[in-house]
Amino acid sequence: MKIRRDDTVLVIAGKDRGKKGKVRQSLPEESRVVVDGINMVKRHMRPRGTVRQAGIIEREAPIHISNVMLICTKCNHPTRTGFRFLEDGTKVRFCRRCHEVID
Ligand SMILES: [Zn+2]
Repeated sequence: MKIRRDDTVLVIAGKDRGKKGKVRQSLPEESRVVVDGINMVKRHMRPRGTVRQAGIIEREAPIHISNVMLICTKCNHPTRTGFRFLEDGTKVRFCRRCHEVID
């Protein structure tokens, strides 16, 4: 996955285009991420059994990783990421804009 938990991303498509948020969860099998405050959907919940919160609640829906860009922690720009191997064989991500290692 090019995008991981706790990364800050910029949304580049959809109704939240232009917003930034922190990745709360990544779903590698679906190539999707859940980003704080992004792609909110309203869910209608009925009080039933152990569900305490009834009524309409808003929560984030997963967004496809092709619709977000990672914001580089080094140069603070939205960027594409590449992979590179360090001398000890560790695979790391790097920023294609400033070429700094991100992890
Ligand atoms: Zn950078």
